[in-house]
This record gives sequence, structure tokens and C-alpha cells, in this order.
Amino acid sequence: MPLKPTARLELSDIFSACFTRRDGVPVFKQFISGRWVESSDHHAFEVDTPIDSSVIAKVQAATIEDVDRAVAAADRARKSMRDIPAIDRIDILNKARHIMRDHREEFVSTLVLEAGKTPSSATGEVMASLNRVKMTMEEARSVFGEYIPGDWSEDTMAKFALVVHEPLGAIACITPFNYPLFSVVAKVIPALVAGNTVVVKPASDDPLVALLLARVLEEAGIPSGAVNVITGHGAKVGDRLVSRDKIKMITLTGSTAVGKRVASLAGMKKLHLELGGKGAAIVAADADLQLASKKVLEGCLKYSGQRCDAISRVFVEDTVAERFTGLLVKELASWRVGDPRKDGNNMGPLINREAAERVQALVDDAVSRGCKLVYGGKHKGCYFEPTILDYVPASAQIAVEETFGPVATLIRVRNLDAAIELTNASRYGLDSCVFTNSFYTAWRVTKALEEGSVTVNDAPAHGVGYFPFGGNKDSGIGREGVGYSIDEMTRLKTIQFNLAPAGLGKTRQTPKM
Ligand code: NAP
Repeated sequence: MPLKPTARLELSDIFSACFTRRDGVPVFKQFISGRWVESSDHHAFEVDTPIDSSVIAKVQAATIEDVDRAVAAADRARKSMRDIPAIDRIDILNKARHIMRDHREEFVSTLVLEAGKTPSSATGEVMASLNRVKMTMEEARSVFGEYIPGDWSEDTMAKFALVVHEPLGAIACITPFNYPLFSVVAKVIPALVAGNTVVVKPASDDPLVALLLARVLEEAGIPSGAVNVITGHGAKVGDRLVSRDKIKMITLTGSTAVGKRVASLAGMKKLHLELGGKGAAIVAADADLQLASKKVLEGCLKYSGQRCDAISRVFVEDTVAERFTGLLVKELASWRVGDPRKDGNNMGPLINREAAERVQALVDDAVSRGCKLVYGGKHKGCYFEPTILDYVPASAQIAVEETFGPVATLIRVRNLDAAIELTNASRYGLDSCVFTNSFYTAWRVTKALEEGSVTVNDAPAHGVGYFPFGGNKDSGIGREGVGYSIDEMTRLKTIQFNLAPAGLGKTRQTPKM
């Protein structure tokens, strides 16, 4: 029996097209081919808030036919989208940014409810999304293309080439639960800036803000079919979406398991995969331990550790490990877990009960293998205590698998070489950091780590995404970033001009010997 909602989604008239209310619960529609529609079999599923597990909305359970309709709409809109002058595309996106800014409080409160974020973290996500839209529009110029003179090669002496970036066509954008607005923005906006169309499949745990964003884009004047959002469970909807030939690129942010499945079904499509991570923090003996303890704890606990760039292993040199652990425990005083809407709580729930139970199993496994439980270690419903584990053996599951929970996993090491070796032993290679006061150590460690990104003297954080971001090994393929994403969402065409017939081509004067 679902719980009664303890909080109501309060949305203004602009969003009334997206849903109807039944028994007081908003039932959201999907956005396909410029229309808000129910699923073809009129089946909807519940979205509940991890704050207290009550139902806050329902969304359509897309059918295979719905997926096909969305893909066909995106494919049809390809030409009109490509032919809109860039200045007009930018104009539409700029309007969308202003509408979203005017309604930012609704985005924040929806994020708090559906994802269990604190208002300050939800505000951070909305502001980062607004900034990402702005910066992506400004960066559009960086992909104008290139002029290449032919006279560097004997056989192209009389030619030159223009290398132009072209849109790919329909792009499938599949997003995870942890940044349900930002990850959609980071895919959809560069796709549209580059002249593509999209079919978005948001995570089933918190799909509402993606639908609100579609409504904002509609209001701003995006052509019909250029943006489509379907909701439904990944295994059914996702499989169908990624295997359609009319989809020309898949950009997925999610777990490695789903990434591998998508890659196996994709066929001849461009793939951009932002997948799981097992971020390490390496604390050198010469580090500023006060700074390191504050940043490491933040890296482990922010959004209850549900971040791909979370620190989920801490390698600390033996000689300073005792002091460092003591400082970490002191830092815990500034962390309070509970209903994220209540003042003073800076850590909310995990996304659902299964997630909390999975983290519990990882912690219990580590304890059963002899690690020391320094603090926390238990969950109640979706809420997991901030937890510190020390002397974790490298063989424990929590030292190997992605944690996605608020746990600082301390592994004591003899020296930095051991820390580097253990970090690189992971199948993941996304994001790590090192704390040291020595430039030489910073350089040595950052060069040696097989990660997509390494931060010195701070926890990994990517904010608006101005720097490129992405993983190696099982952490993914490709890079996201303000300009990098636009680049990934275009293909190159080489146009050659032969100047010889007009007598304008260069000829080579063979130098006299
Ligand atoms: P997930 O379970 O892999 O789901 C991600 C998305 O894929 C959801 O929309 C999901 O839909 C969909 N999906 C599931 N099965 C699919 C299939 N067979 N075909 C196509 N799509 C499918 O991940 P999550 O739990 O939402 O997010 C957490 C994961 O994302 C973590 O592993 C985290 O590290 C990773 N992540 C990586 C980055 C990065 O930048 N590298 C950033 C954020 C998160 P349903 O929700 O309906 O199942």
C-alpha cells in the first residue's frame, strides 16, 4: 500500500500541459513529436520520494511502440533542425534558459522530492545546469571547422580542404538518477546546439525534471520532434531505443553493467559512455592533513556518496594514518543525516531502499573480513549513516566495487607506490585525487594514475563541466565538457577544392641541386 504523499509537487501553470491529476497525484505524460501523450497502453508507474517513500507522481510506462514513435519523430525532425540557422537555435536555447531561470524554484523543489537532495544541493544542480546551457551556447563557435591548405603534400598541391562539423541526426540520451537535471542538460543542450535531435530516456527513479525541461524547451519554441522524452524501465525501453538504426549516437551516463549492455546492442553508432567509478584519494605523508581530512570526507559523503566522482577508497600512508583517521572523525561533526528538507541536515537518503541495502552488504562484508568499523555502518530505510571503515583489506568487496553510499573506506599503505598500484588495479579509471605538499609527488602520482581525471589537493568535483570529464577502462568512452560534448555530437566532413582548372593551384618548383 503506497504511503500518502507528505509533500505535493507545486508546479505553476506553464507545466500544466505535462500532467493530469488523478486522486491528487500528478500523472505525467511523455513528450513525443511535440505532443504530451500517454503511453500507448495507458500504463503508468509510481515515482516515490526517498525522503519517506511516499508517492509523489506517476509517469508513463513507455511501450515499444512509444519508443519507435519517438525515434521516428526525432528522425523526421532531423532535417528541419539542421536547417535552422545557428543564430535561431541559440535564440531558442537562450529563451529556454530564461524560462528555466524564472521557474528555478520549481526545479529545485522537484529535485528535492524525487531525488532526496538537500535544497542547497538541488539549487547547486539547477544553477550548474543554467550555467551549462549558457556556456554551451557560447562554446558553439569552437566547432566552426578548419581550413587545411593542400601544399604540405605533393598530391594535394593544387587543392585546399574545408573540414566542417555536421550534426549526426537523432541522438539517444540516457541519464542516471544522481544528477537527473544536469546530466540531461549536459547531453541535450550540446546536441541541439550542434543541430541534432534527441530522444531522452531519464532514470525511472527520478524522471520528473527531465519532463519539466522538455516543457521549457517546448515553450521556448523548439521545433516539433526535435526533443522527445520517453519514460519507462531501462531494460525494456532502453534496449529498444539503443538498437534502432535511426539513432545515430548513444550518449549514456550510468553504471558499467548497463554501459556494456548498451554497447553490445548498439551496432554502427557513435558511443559516448560515462560509466561507474571507484575514485581514490591518496593521502601522502607530507600532506596538509587538516585540509585532506575535510576534503576527503566531503568527497565521500556529498549527496550520500551517490556520485560517480565520489571518493570511495582512501589510501593513506602508514606513518600518518592514525592522525588522519582522528581528523576524519572530528570532521564528522559537521555532517547530519536526515530529512533533507529540515534545516541542519546536510545528508539525505539514498535513492531507494535497495541502494541502502546494497551499501549495507558491502559494509558488512568488510567488517566480516576484519576491518575496523570506526563510525556509523547502519541504515534505516533509505537513510545510511555517514560511515568510516579503517584497515580495510584490499580483498574486501567495498575496496573493489563501486560504493555509491556515504562510506570512507580507509586502506593503509606502506608508501605511495603501493597506493598507485592499488588504485590502478581497479577495473575503473574515472576520477581520483592526491593530497601532498610536494610538487614532485603530485606530478609523479598524477602521471602514474590511469584515470580520466586527477585532482591535486581537493576532492574530485566537476561543477559546470568546463574541463573535460570522462573515464578510462570500465569507466567509459569519450569526454563530456562544455565544448567537448558539442564536438562529440558532430561528425567531420572534408570538402576538397581543386584550384588547378582555374589555374590557381600551386605547383612545386623542384629546388635546384
Ligand atoms: P543505471 O542503473 O545504469 O541507469 C542509468 C540509465 O540507464 C537509466 O536511465 C536506466 O533506466 C537506463 N538503463 C537501464 N538498463 C538499460 C538498458 N538495457 N538499455 C538502455 N538503458 C538502460 O545507473 P543509475 O543507478 O541510474 O546511476 C548510477 C550509475 O551511474 C553509477 O554507476 C555511476 O557511477 C554512474 N554515473 C556515471 C557518471 C560519469 O560521468 N561517469 C555520472 C553519473 C553517474 P532505468 O532507471 O529505467 O533502469
